[in-house]
Amino acid sequence: MTTPSKAARVRFAPSPTGFFHVGGARTALYDYLLAKKTGGAFIIRIEDTDQKRYNPKAVSNLLEGLRYLGLDWDEGPEVGGDYGPYYQTQRLEIYQKYIQELLAKDRVYRCFCTPERLAQVNQERQKAKLGPGYDRACRNIPPDQSARRAEAGEPFVIRLKVPLEGSMTLHDIIKGDVTIENQMVQDAVLMKSNGIPTYHFAVVVDDHLMEITHIIRGDEWVSSFPIHLHLYNYLGWEPPAFVHMSVILNPSGKGKMSKRETRAPDGRVYPVFLHTFKEMGYLPDALFNYLALVGWSYDDKTEIMTREELIERFSLERISSSPAAFNYEKLDHFNGLYIRNLTVEDLTDRLMPYLEAAGLKADRETMLKITPAIQERLTVLSDAIAWVDFLFVDELPAYDLNLLVPKKMSLADMPGILQNARAILAGADFSHDALDTALREGAKAVGLKAGQMFQPIRVAVCGKKVAPPLFDTLEVLGRETVLKRIDSALERLEAGA
Ligand code: GLU
Repeated sequence: MTTPSKAARVRFAPSPTGFFHVGGARTALYDYLLAKKTGGAFIIRIEDTDQKRYNPKAVSNLLEGLRYLGLDWDEGPEVGGDYGPYYQTQRLEIYQKYIQELLAKDRVYRCFCTPERLAQVNQERQKAKLGPGYDRACRNIPPDQSARRAEAGEPFVIRLKVPLEGSMTLHDIIKGDVTIENQMVQDAVLMKSNGIPTYHFAVVVDDHLMEITHIIRGDEWVSSFPIHLHLYNYLGWEPPAFVHMSVILNPSGKGKMSKRETRAPDGRVYPVFLHTFKEMGYLPDALFNYLALVGWSYDDKTEIMTREELIERFSLERISSSPAAFNYEKLDHFNGLYIRNLTVEDLTDRLMPYLEAAGLKADRETMLKITPAIQERLTVLSDAIAWVDFLFVDELPAYDLNLLVPKKMSLADMPGILQNARAILAGADFSHDALDTALREGAKAVGLKAGQMFQPIRVAVCGKKVAPPLFDTLEVLGRETVLKRIDSALERLEAGA
């Protein structure tokens, strides 16, 4: 089966157990691309039946992440839809109905084994070098006896009756045919003693009732397909198409991508959660473009693509069957390109929240003047904080005076250079080109190289060596502040601290 021409209904079905990971975001992105390409629906379903692992913050974190990436969903939490509810815990009656149907058809059975007995069975299996599992002790309890014990209040779970012979074959769009012998499949628990379904049961019922046409999900679920396909058979339903995607590897290419964020010795953070990508200032379009290419390609060369192009060009056939490594350098490169493509106004508007979040009293007017000078230098939006913070403080924090000193000069040379610079700046026209000419000529007149004059000025007015281009900076700061900061450097030099 190939990419369908008719409208696909595709769901992203996360379990709300933690923060929204970029691996999940890639799955959601492919769901979205397929839905949009075919004019279908992108659906969010919250698989919250595992109450032990439930994390109340996870859903809002997920929805914020999806919104940030621009993956607007057609049905699901907050937006509703004709196939709701979209939280599994709000669908318990629905699952009851189908589990009763399966009980009546003798396709499932009640298992009354206590946790202690199950632990013992596992221990014995371990001794016999078998994997963990269940010995099917309750499978042959006669149905009337089983019903009586249930009525008497004995706790039970409900398990799937997996055929004891034969095999099951999955036609995966990417992997091709995958066959698993029924002997290898456990009588999976479908419903717990509290009447809450497990993932395996709820996922099948919901995918069917929500008329899902394509299931795109992680490789880790491939081994569960026989359970799901047996359920489709027993319920007399047509299964959807399946795509099991290879995992994303760590940048080194070794091991599954980390579930934790790491910080390099230089302080660089390697994000894995969507909220961190957002906090650092990856542009949604850049991340969208990059993620589409982690495990899918259009051809061997085209990389930079708009959302519209990606939607038009996406195809299930070109999803790779081998795992792809997450490449932060490439993502950074994409982000830089996307930043440089923004207009100054747009970039400025996007920078403002980052500056405010960093506690800077930045104003848009000033930023509009300096943004062009830093646009080329930004990898992520939050980089701007360190480029412009000096513009928005009354007084610079005390910097190391040695930063003033250019190569082959000494601290003792600084007062002279700064006094000279001050005199030039006091009389200069404060526009970029006039400052350029005045300072270059001023340096030459006293036998200095331009850089020997510029560095002390830059550090005196910015408090650091790495700053936006000097003349832009001076122009934006204005004469009064520039002279005040040079005076303050001179005072500190005189005081020796
Ligand atoms: N709730 C499952 C998960 O979070 C969904 C798997 C599936 O897509 O079937 O991985």
